[in-house]
Amino acid sequence: MKKKIGLLYGGKSAEHKVSLQTALAVINALDYEKFEIYPIYITEQGEWIKGPLLEGKVETVAALQFSNGESLPPTALAPALFTADSQNAPFDIIFPLLHGPNGEDGTVQGLLELLNLPYVGNGVLASSAGMDKVIMKNIFAQAGLPQVNYVWFIRSEWEHNPVAAYEKVEADIGYPCFVKPANLGSSVGISKCTNREELVTAFKEAFQFDRKIIIEQGVTAREVELGVIGNDLPECSVAGEIIPKVEFYDYKAKYEDGNTALVIPAEITEAEYKLLEGLAKRAYKALDCSGLVRADFFLTKDGKAYINEVNTMPGFTPFSMFPLLWKHTGVDYPQLIERLVQLGIERYDEKQ
Ligand code: ATP
Ligand code: MG
Ligand code: MG
Ligand code: MG
Repeated sequence: MKKKIGLLYGGKSAEHKVSLQTALAVINALDYEKFEIYPIYITEQGEWIKGPLLEGKVETVAALQFSNGESLPPTALAPALFTADSQNAPFDIIFPLLHGPNGEDGTVQGLLELLNLPYVGNGVLASSAGMDKVIMKNIFAQAGLPQVNYVWFIRSEWEHNPVAAYEKVEADIGYPCFVKPANLGSSVGISKCTNREELVTAFKEAFQFDRKIIIEQGVTAREVELGVIGNDLPECSVAGEIIPKVEFYDYKAKYEDGNTALVIPAEITEAEYKLLEGLAKRAYKALDCSGLVRADFFLTKDGKAYINEVNTMPGFTPFSMFPLLWKHTGVDYPQLIERLVQLGIERYDEKQ
């Protein structure tokens, strides 16, 4: 029996385009002998559009946007999800290929829990805690994980007294610092600041994307990342290093100019790898992750490691860091997808 897999992608998020790229790659990597693939496209406005059962490989992102597909108003969502085919059989699993808010943040995961559908990747708690950089860092701090210093603000607090906010950053963090929307990814809305003027601009920029922002101490360090997969007993991939040719690993470097070198495996010592592996597993447990994460670290010259973040739905095209890390660990892209599907089903079965 083929497994019926519902692919959710697009999404009401600044990372919509990234998700489309991911969906195209996953659809073309899945084995059509093993899976029946049902695309469900979420528009940037948040409308859900169910496409037809896919017959085979898809050529373009545009072909996945189903402007003429069947629209699913929220009230019709549950039955529409349950009736994946003419026999009214439910999906075997949903694969939310969504990045950022309204997808990677526990909202979709909560919906799928209520619909009693198994799904790939992290559950509600890890997804939502991992999406909010402030909450994530607070949990990591509580777990004793090494991190750079940070402060955070909500928009109204800043609007009420902007100068006090800037002064707090300068007193507690100093320059250089990184200003980030609390709930995003793909470097959207992130700026590096070296003075007050840049800080003011960076606050405005980050608050365009979120009502909450985080400001972190900027470190001079290598950027090393590990893939983690598993449920209760996670495993780590080899490490990979990002070498941005620009000031930092911004959105353009990630998705537009390919102006970044990924070095896999990273040239780090065995001791450094062990250190990062241990931290990645502790972070996984602290956030109660399941399925997968990509754990991002800063590694300084003197061998000190800081955890930057975990991404509960990391970039997932075949050229993204996470799949490449697994490829170098001996798990190729189709195998990785199947492993994640299996982990999603195992987690669901354990709860029954
Ligand atoms: P993604 O989810 O795509 O990894 P993100 O939007 O969650 O990205 P971060 O990973 O936190 O953002 O930051 C993006 C990039 O900015 C990092 O890869 C790094 O190049 C740089 N950066 C972020 N924080 C710092 C910091 N505290 N010190 C030095 N560089 C930083
Ligand atoms: Mg991130
Ligand atoms: Mg992300
Ligand atoms: Mg990152």
